[in-house]
This record gives sequence, C-alpha cells and structure tokens, in this order.
Amino acid sequence: MNVTFCCSQCGKTTRCDLDEGTLDVACRHCSERVVIPTGAVHKGQVNRCLVCPSDELFVRKDFSQRWGVGFILFGFVVSGVALAMRRHMVAFEILGVTAIIDAILYWYTGNVLTCYRCHSEYRDLETMEQHPRFDLEVHERFRQQAARLKQAQESSE
Ligand SMILES: [Zn+2]
Ligand SMILES: [Zn+2]
Repeated sequence: MNVTFCCSQCGKTTRCDLDEGTLDVACRHCSERVVIPTGAVHKGQVNRCLVCPSDELFVRKDFSQRWGVGFILFGFVVSGVALAMRRHMVAFEILGVTAIIDAILYWYTGNVLTCYRCHSEYRDLETMEQHPRFDLEVHERFRQQAARLKQAQESSE
C-alpha cells in the first residue's frame, strides 16, 4: 500500500510505499521522518492515520471531481456547437456519450482511504471495507476544529 500526505516540515505533498513491517516513512523532498504508530497498520488494513494520527478515516472513490465535471462541461460545449449548427440529434448523442463515459470511468476507479483530519490518502490496501463512507457531519466537525485552531494561532501571534 502507499500513503500520500502533506509533510509537516516542508509543506509539500509526498508519497511513500509501506507495509505492515514499516516503522517510519520519509518525505521525498526533505527526508523528514514520520514514525508510524504501533498497530496503525494491521493485516493489510489501516486502523488509524499514520500521520496525525486520528482514527477517523473514510472511503471515497479515487476520482477527480474536477476532471469529471470538466469532462461533462466539455460535452456541453461540443453539443452546444452541434446545436448552433442545427444538428439536434448529434447534440443529444454527444451529451449522452459523455455522460456514459463519465459513469464508466467513475465505476472503474478504485477506492482511496482518506483521513478527515489531515487529508492523508491511502491507496492499494487489501481491504477498506471496515471503513465508513464519507460523512458530512464528521467532516464538518474536523473543519470547524481546524478553523478554531487556526483562529487561536492567529490571535496568539
Ligand atoms: Zn518534507
Ligand atoms: Zn491524518
């Protein structure tokens, strides 16, 4: 499996391979080491985030929403051109085909395990089934926590 996280030292995003026996992972840019908490990785599963180390993680599709929306928009633009040329059937076909391709791409993309708190991402796990899907309430709780923390830091400076 591998983890993608934002390095606390240099602020860059880095990616590391790891398995159950891995004790720490190092940033590719500045070599800052992150020690993996014991028991965090067990039997091919991630029980808690290796970086922050929160145990609230969620599974989502590894699908770039921006890319998906961009693709649909592209379909709209092209079909708009077809409409302007009074090719109504072609316009509908283009819209239909882009929607279908989008759905197929979405269906075939794998899952990624994400940490609510630090947004680290875990891929190529044996199983992610024990983790819940995205929960807006939990997300909101972490977002507000982060906002309060930032506020407190700013006012103490
Ligand atoms: Zn770094
Ligand atoms: Zn985390």
